[in-house]
Amino acid sequence: MAEKVITRFAPSPTGYLHVGGARTALFAWLWAKKDGGEFRLRIEDTDRKRLVEDAEDQIKESLEWLGLDWHDTVLRQSERIDEYRKQAKRLVEAGFARESAEKEGTVIRFKWPEPLRPVAIEPFQGRQKIMVDPQTVASAFEEFVLIKSDGYPTYNFAHIIDDLETGVTDVIRGDEFTSSLHKYYAIYQALGRADALPRFYHVPPILGSDKAKLSKRHGAQDVLDYRAEGYLPEALANFIALIGWNPGDDREFFASLDELREAFDLSKVQRSPGVFDPEKLAWLNGEHIKALAPGDLLERAATGGFWEPGRDRAYDERVLGLATDRVRTLAELRDIRTGYFYEAPKVAVDRLVGKENPETVGVWLERVLRDLTKLPEAEWKSDRIERTLNDVRDELDLEPKQLFPVLRIVVTDADRTPPLWDVFEVLGKSETVSRLEAAQDLVA
Ligand code: GLU
Repeated sequence: MAEKVITRFAPSPTGYLHVGGARTALFAWLWAKKDGGEFRLRIEDTDRKRLVEDAEDQIKESLEWLGLDWHDTVLRQSERIDEYRKQAKRLVEAGFARESAEKEGTVIRFKWPEPLRPVAIEPFQGRQKIMVDPQTVASAFEEFVLIKSDGYPTYNFAHIIDDLETGVTDVIRGDEFTSSLHKYYAIYQALGRADALPRFYHVPPILGSDKAKLSKRHGAQDVLDYRAEGYLPEALANFIALIGWNPGDDREFFASLDELREAFDLSKVQRSPGVFDPEKLAWLNGEHIKALAPGDLLERAATGGFWEPGRDRAYDERVLGLATDRVRTLAELRDIRTGYFYEAPKVAVDRLVGKENPETVGVWLERVLRDLTKLPEAEWKSDRIERTLNDVRDELDLEPKQLFPVLRIVVTDADRTPPLWDVFEVLGKSETVSRLEAAQDLVA
């Protein structure tokens, strides 16, 4: 039986979860869940000076929102200090570490076994082996700190104790850790656990379009900011997965984490940095919105505070149905849910007639009403309404830009709306007719 894959995401709560961290978490989640493995969450809060108070909550909420659920309880390093000290003491006793009295206090440092030997490292995807040779890079063999003077462990030490404890088989993280891999190898050996060495997948960073390190300047945000702006979690996950990874063909739309999981393969992660493209995110978000059933969309827009439930659900769904093809975020739905769908506008007569004279507009309205009222209720459909209005327009010998803007103002009092016939269909026959009749009175 193949061994179960166990991955973890191990953020430091020194800031909120952003696109880069979310990608590491997503890759680790997808990789574990591919074959029924486990994805774990660990909070690496040993750098006490840099803690941000609500970062842990924000990180967890971000992961939950994205659907990246973790196995078991969260492991918090600050609660395991005794364990790290115990393990460090063991290394001291075994001669692999030493206590050292220093300016800020006593620390425990790793002691390389003598004589120093080159270490060969095999990270990620069959990249070339890296040789770290003390002859050429002596600094790589410094006696690095395991336990700091404040009693807390360093990242270099604690993460290994925890990965061992939780049986992590695959470590997915940024490639800035590659230059320390030989230290980690040495600790596993010193602990007598070389057998439990995980596979290391070090992922290249994400850059902005100008090839600089990704930052807010490139439009990259914290995960929950995307939620606030009306992005769907599955769209953000879809987008993030494609930064530096592709399924090997040109498929870009993945409806769900499940679809991503099936296609995902760490061996297809690019070796060069991924590039962040906010335009692509907006496009993908639009595609995900289109793919939602109207009821779902309504629910999610309402939950996110982007839609205030109106008259009744079925009607709301129809209004919303007009929007799905043209919005790219849920926030844009606020523009669609304009008042005219729910209440007849009070149109000023000047605005209504514009450059025409009231009598002429009166004639237009009369003809429009004459033919629209003939349409049976069951045929009150966008295409029939469009045909009817165009027939009237031909009969009156008018250009679309003469007749339709007037009708738009009459019924909505808005300058821009979805296609007029779509709006008429959603409003329904009697409401549309009653608004047209009210305008007739206004110009009489
Ligand atoms: N706390 C480390 C970080 O946030 C974790 C690195 C790792 O995954 O091992 O970068």
